[in-house]
Order: sequence, then structure tokens, then C-alpha cells
Amino acid sequence: MTLIVKKFGGSSVATPEKILNVAKRVVNEKKPGDKVVVVVSAMGDTTDDLISLAKDVVGNSDINDKMYSREMDMLLATGEQVSIALLAMAFKVLGQKSMSMTGWQAGITTNEMHNKAKIKDINPERVFKELEEGSVVIIAGFQGNTDDGDITTLGRGGSDTTAVAIAAALNAEVCEIYTDVDGIYTTDPRIVKDARRMKEITYNEMLELARLGAGVMHPRSVELGKHYGIPIHVRSTFTSDNGTIIGEEYTNTMEEKEFVIRGVTNDMNVAKVAALGVPDKPGIAFKIFSALASKFIDVDMIIQSVRNPDEHMIDMVFTIKKEDIAQTKETLQDLGLNMSIDENVSKVSVVGVGMLGSPGIAATVFGALADADINIEAISTSEISISCLVSADKAKDAVKVIHDKFFPNN
Ligand code: ADP
Ligand code: ASP
Ligand code: MG
Repeated sequence: MTLIVKKFGGSSVATPEKILNVAKRVVNEKKPGDKVVVVVSAMGDTTDDLISLAKDVVGNSDINDKMYSREMDMLLATGEQVSIALLAMAFKVLGQKSMSMTGWQAGITTNEMHNKAKIKDINPERVFKELEEGSVVIIAGFQGNTDDGDITTLGRGGSDTTAVAIAAALNAEVCEIYTDVDGIYTTDPRIVKDARRMKEITYNEMLELARLGAGVMHPRSVELGKHYGIPIHVRSTFTSDNGTIIGEEYTNTMEEKEFVIRGVTNDMNVAKVAALGVPDKPGIAFKIFSALASKFIDVDMIIQSVRNPDEHMIDMVFTIKKEDIAQTKETLQDLGLNMSIDENVSKVSVVGVGMLGSPGIAATVFGALADADINIEAISTSEISISCLVSADKAKDAVKVIHDKFFPNN
């Protein structure tokens, strides 16, 4: 007996035909005695459409304002509820016993952070019972419930996280992520068409790629996979070929170890904030960043620049996610600070554990950007990544020229 969790993304269930095809594939691949859980996203662009509806209702008010966050979750969670019901029906058409479950019915509890909730606990009792009785269980991705019974969502792309968390709670053999690409590539194949598919990638590298914008996996899902040791197989919904295994270490090929850099990413969901003319005295950084942290605002790429030493003023520049702009403005205003916010930026990064022992990676990145006449507005590094903030309209070119340097075409 094998217990497998399979997750199908929005483009895999975009139409009734595609939903029927997903059911057919799962039934055809299921061996007698296998227990299968399917986690599914909202159909096609449903989540975007629901967000547009909300925007139409709130008008000039900011959709990301905290006062709407509970109702946004109530709204967005409906997308997944449509697809689980339809997929469960598709299984029944094929003669396969099935049952759909919302996040709550599947026992998923989260914290109270609406729109970016984290899963706290899963009680899989009901899922186990239905599996025992021979059903394919279909669980709504992206959603959970607080202890008080409020619906929450896990952040855009969060169905991946539902799938890996369920796989961990059920102690599944593997979590398969079915999507519209046939694996993880060295960069988004929509940007660089000769990007290379990888057979394997480590959790750490994938986590860094995801964190830095590779939309193919939700970062939290990779974190959970690593924590619970669940192998994640990213593969195509439309072919039966193997894709990419995300795991603790490379298991076979030398080829995988050949490259110092594993991938290049681009994150457009950033804004550059400059807090201007901040008094240059001890404790000021603490004051700003602890105020932001108390509102769960993620800050990255912090630069403190001295204006004129006699003025005793500095400018504090940092990046945030676009959805946190309204709250960041409010927080800085409450501290009495002036600011400017630039949304026209993008963060381009290279990732690879190999760079630990390879000096000169940063110079290669900067050189590639210099040759292409692309200005770097900020830089940040971690042990296994280097990120450069560039103007948004240069981001794709930046990805291409950096990718060409590390993965030359011959
Ligand atoms: P789903 O709806 O199935 O969750 P997503 O749109 O979230 O699918 O993720 C798949 C997309 O991720 C691909 O179509 C691809 O354009 C994009 N992507 C970004 N970076 C990468 C990468 N390094 N490897 C593969 N795909 C990537
Ligand atoms: N439907 C949600 C989204 O579009 C969650 C997901 O697809 O993973 O972000
Ligand atoms: Mg996704």
C-alpha cells in the first residue's frame, strides 16, 4: 500500500475537460490498495478574478488594508471549493469513490494571520477514515481555519503548502506537484527558453529560489518538505515524464553538481522604501524594523546611507512586498518619518550552494549586469544567494544575461 498526495495547480484544472482529465489520470495511475489524496487549486484565473471583484467593490480603498483581510479570505477560499466539488464529481463519473473536503473538514488549523496564514496543526482523522473506506480524498488547497473557526488563506500559491503539509500529516511516501511545466528549471522557462530542467534540487536551494521569486513552488511548502523529510516531485500535468525531485541531497548524477549556481530568479513583487532624513543615533534601526516586524512585514535588502556627516541624518532604504505598502506607509508615518516608495523595481537573484566555496560569483553577476548596462540599485547576499535590485523594465534582460553567464549555451 502506498499513500501519495498529488497536487494540481490552477492551470491543470482550468476547464471541465481538464478536471475530467485529472480524474482520469489519477484513476489510471492508482494501483489497487493505493491511498490517494488530491489537493487542488482554484480553476484557472479564478483567484485573480475574485480579487478584481473585491477591488471593484472597495473602489479607491486599498484591498490590502487590514480591515478587509478577513473578508478577502472568505472570498478567496471559495475558488478552491468550486474545484474540489467538480473534481470529486469527475471521479464519481469514472466510477471511483471520492469525497471533497474543505480545509476545515480536512482538519487544517492555522494561525490568525489572514491572507498569509501559517498552518499550525493538521488533524487528519477524517481524511484517514475516508481513505480507509476506499475514497480518493480531494482537499481544497490554500485554505485553513483558525481556532475560532474563521477561514484563512495561506498566501498566493499556497496550495503547494497545503499539499506538503497534508503529506507530512499523513506520512505520505511522496508529494507530487503537478503543474504546467515539467519540472524545476534553471530559470523561469517563460523568460529564458533554453533554461535547463534539473533532475534534482536540494530543499535548501529550492527554498532560496522560491523565497526569491521562483513562483513554481510556494516557499513554505519547501520548508515543510525539508522539516518533515517529504520528497517533493514537481512534474507536468500533461505528460507522464518524471520531473524534478526536491530532496535533502543529490542522490545520483554528477551532472547536478557541476554547476556552482543552480538557478536565476526574478521577483517583481517588491517595492523600494526610503525612509528619508532619519536621525543618525543608536536604536533608530531597531525602532523602525521592530515596528514593521510587529505587523509581520517582511523586510529585505536594507541599506543605511549617510547623507552628510555634519547633518547627523541618514536615509534608510529597504525592500518590502508590494502588498505591504499600505501598512508600511502607516507604520513610518506613525514614527513621524518622511518616505518615498518606488514600486518600479525588481529583485534578480542567483542561487546555489556551490557558491559557498567559489569566490567571484558576485563579480560575475555584477559584470553581466554592467555589460548589459543595467544599473544595480541595491544588493543583498545570503550564504547561497546574491540578489540585485534593478529597474522593473530591465528585470527580464537581467535574468537573461546572468543566466547566459552561468549556463552558457554550448
Ligand atoms: P500552478 O498553477 O500549477 O501552481 P504556477 O503558475 O504557480 O503553477 O507555477 C508554474 C510556473 O512557474 C511555470 O509556468 C513557470 O512559468 C513558473 N516558474 C518560475 N520559475 C520557474 C523555474 N525555475 N522552473 C520552472 N518554472 C518556473
Ligand atoms: N488559488 C490560489 C492562488 O491563485 C492558491 C494556489 O493556486 O496555490 O494563489
Ligand atoms: Mg503555484
